[in-house]
Amino acid sequence: MSSPLQEAAQRVAKEFDYSDDEVFKAGKHFITQMQEGLLKDGTSMSQIPTYVTAVPNGTEKGVYLAVDLGGTNFRVCSIQLHGDTTFTLTQSKVAIPKELMIAKTAVELFSFLAKQIELFLKEHHGEHFESHLRRRNTVSSPTGYRDEHIFKLGFTFSFPVHQIGINRGTLIRWTKGFDIADAVGKDVCQLLQDAIDALHLPVRVSALVNDTVGTLMSRSYTSPGKTPTVLGAIFGTGTNGAYVEKLSNIKKGLEGAYDAKTGEMVVNTEWGSFDNELTVLPTTVYDKDLDTASVNPGIQMFEKRVSGMFLGELLRLAVVALYKEKLIFTDVAAIEAASPLNTHSGVDSSILSVAAADETADLAALRKEIEVQLAVKQASVEDAKAIKTIAYAIGRRAARLSAVAVGAIVVQSGRLDTTSSSASGEVSEDDIVDVGVDGSLVEFYPAFEEHMRAALRKVAGMGEQGERRVRIGIAKDGSGVGAALIALVAEGMD
Ligand code: ADP
Repeated sequence: MSSPLQEAAQRVAKEFDYSDDEVFKAGKHFITQMQEGLLKDGTSMSQIPTYVTAVPNGTEKGVYLAVDLGGTNFRVCSIQLHGDTTFTLTQSKVAIPKELMIAKTAVELFSFLAKQIELFLKEHHGEHFESHLRRRNTVSSPTGYRDEHIFKLGFTFSFPVHQIGINRGTLIRWTKGFDIADAVGKDVCQLLQDAIDALHLPVRVSALVNDTVGTLMSRSYTSPGKTPTVLGAIFGTGTNGAYVEKLSNIKKGLEGAYDAKTGEMVVNTEWGSFDNELTVLPTTVYDKDLDTASVNPGIQMFEKRVSGMFLGELLRLAVVALYKEKLIFTDVAAIEAASPLNTHSGVDSSILSVAAADETADLAALRKEIEVQLAVKQASVEDAKAIKTIAYAIGRRAARLSAVAVGAIVVQSGRLDTTSSSASGEVSEDDIVDVGVDGSLVEFYPAFEEHMRAALRKVAGMGEQGERRVRIGIAKDGSGVGAALIALVAEGMD
């Protein structure tokens, strides 16, 4: 006999069902919104052209630099590409001093960044660096270095920029605690290059990198086989994807210069805002509450149902509702006022993974997590069971929604249109459509890929045949090796 709590949990879980029919419809709508975004600006999905017109196949060689200015740290790496899908990465990381985040001038921040690049080169590439210094005065190029001795650098800059070329982009606004008024509207690559030049470093900022594009590039270099990867997707704190589109399909104007040889360009979809209008996205009462309480109601509606930043909150809202109905934690004396359950966005999505992974009868691991993460002592097995049911439903819906994005892009890419079909039904290497993914959710949520695959088959144009051709692999370190690879492909464009 099922208890009222388990019945309630089942009822909530059912609200998070996302049927095959709905997946089918959403896939079609996703393609429509992709196509709209290729035609003009200001649509739901931004479909930003990245000016990256080639993806690697694993045979690339050389040493490249990459730097990453995220929120709190600045990372400098050098990447040696061995040309056989493997690479060696050397890196250093330093916290950005708080006073530089709010410096008076951009020069102060960018001089600090250039100084870190200099220190890195001296420490890890001393020999190369010194020999260039010696040669400097003997070469009559404007920089003082021979071009082949200049390190090409990919710059991952995780703030909103208006990209106008592969190594040109103006800062729209600062986020994450940075506030340097005189940098807004300026080309951040030029700011970095000026600071590098002031120190006479043998470094050229070759590419401005979006982390999703980095994911695509890194997977394309490291994936087995020679077919370049078609899509790089992130399922972490946020969610986004970048894919390879035919240049002829990008109908909106491209302001900057680019190399049209390949006939392709990587497009950053910004799919977090897919269907902000809620035409096909599922919406429970918990989705509504989450959105209302968010800093950006009505925006990033796909992301709010899919990414790590929000799944814990959906679970929290559902559990709090059961608590208010006096169904869950009935044996618990009291929930502390300071419990994450009482705090907006207080619950981390990692609890979903613990819940899904715990298959024991007494749910010991999940109960421990409830005690540690939710600060609820003595939760019963029944309580944990209800949480597992709901957490599973939220995770499964996120994976099925992810399939809508992945499936629609694979279909739109046209890669399924050709086949070397073997009679045996085996998928041959030539028919593989490779997809690179990154982020804690896809990496750690148990069976995320299985749930995603079940739904992929239902996306319009995919079917079982199409789904079997999709190979999904983890892409590591998009802001390191991915950025280096973008610097590499950018070189052909100077
Ligand atoms: P980022 O996207 O910021 O680069 P991650 O890929 O590590 O970093 O994603 C962090 C997000 O993933 C956080 O929102 C966190 O709640 C969530 N997360 C971390 N671990 C897990 C896990 N085991 N299962 C599900 N979600 C997780």
